[in-house]
Amino acid sequence: VHLQVGILILDAAGKVVIVNVWLLKRCGLAADALLGHKLIDVFDGAATAHFCRRLALSQETGFPAMLSHSLHAPPLPLYMPHLVGHAPAMVRQSVHLSPMGRWTAQQHDQVFTLVQVTDVTPTVRRESLLRTRVDQMHLMARVDALTGIGNRRAFAETLDTEVRAAIRSGTSLGLLMMDIDFFKSYNDHYGHPAGDQCLREVAAMLQRVVKRPRDRLARYGGEEFVVLLPGTPLEGVLEVGGEVIDQMRALKLPHLARQGGDIVTLSVGAVSVVPRHIDEASTLVRKADEALYEAKARGRNRLCYAPVASIRSPVG
Ligand code: GH3
Ligand code: MG
Ligand code: MG
Repeated sequence: VHLQVGILILDAAGKVVIVNVWLLKRCGLAADALLGHKLIDVFDGAATAHFCRRLALSQETGFPAMLSHSLHAPPLPLYMPHLVGHAPAMVRQSVHLSPMGRWTAQQHDQVFTLVQVTDVTPTVRRESLLRTRVDQMHLMARVDALTGIGNRRAFAETLDTEVRAAIRSGTSLGLLMMDIDFFKSYNDHYGHPAGDQCLREVAAMLQRVVKRPRDRLARYGGEEFVVLLPGTPLEGVLEVGGEVIDQMRALKLPHLARQGGDIVTLSVGAVSVVPRHIDEASTLVRKADEALYEAKARGRNRLCYAPVASIRSPVG
């Protein structure tokens, strides 16, 4: 009575000999509508073509078959019970077709086929939930927990993709590398939690400055940020970099413990290249880093750039 499986037994002609209550409930038919009738006729096109083919094959050859839920649409028109008033939900099915040996038949020429239907709806639901979770974790692994912007891994992936795209299209790829000035003394003076808050505000400011859909902002390290600017020649990169410096100043975040000023500032290194080889991804980062170092050396709170000509292509 509590068998959680649908059972049909068909004779050699495909007529239903036995059907259980589980199955009747889910196809919404009385026993009379099925017993003695050809299954295929009763369902009249509502069973999938794949099911009909596999059933015919099993009956001909005597080989069993399994129709798995993940590969095919539900083979039989079965619907969830107890959902009165709701749109009928189809039962996700795993179906086994088992030809039964002649010894079970009354007549020697008659071969029965056992059709077993398992409701795999919960499995399907669990799998889709797991897939959603995996997707979420994939995203989370690329987000910086403190600031909510991309992390270094996200940057590395985007850089790789964008260098390839720039090679294909022969367009510029710009990069800004930024580092907050005297941040160690900020932490020392205001405390680490205040330092964290400062990093969040800087990230939010950068997010506002970086507007194009393909531009990618990421936290590269402790107080270092990067912005990848696809399709942007040096003058465009310098424009964005200058805007970053200006907006940082405009925020007026107090930093009384620093040399040469009383607000938080940052230094920016800029570079842009039309890459010709995938190896230039690391060159791009190195050049931006060198330009940043120069900005620090020249007194911080400024923008420096690496001349494009100094980037040598392994090809040319
Ligand atoms: P410079 O102007 O040359 O960049 O000097 P600096 O003090 O900013 O540079 P340094 O690399 O010496 O210090 C970076 C500091 O950033 C060290 C560390 O205390 C702080 N830091 C790194 N990550 C975090 C973080 O997640 N939260 C906070 N609050 N501070 C961080
Ligand atoms: Mg640093
Ligand atoms: Mg710093």
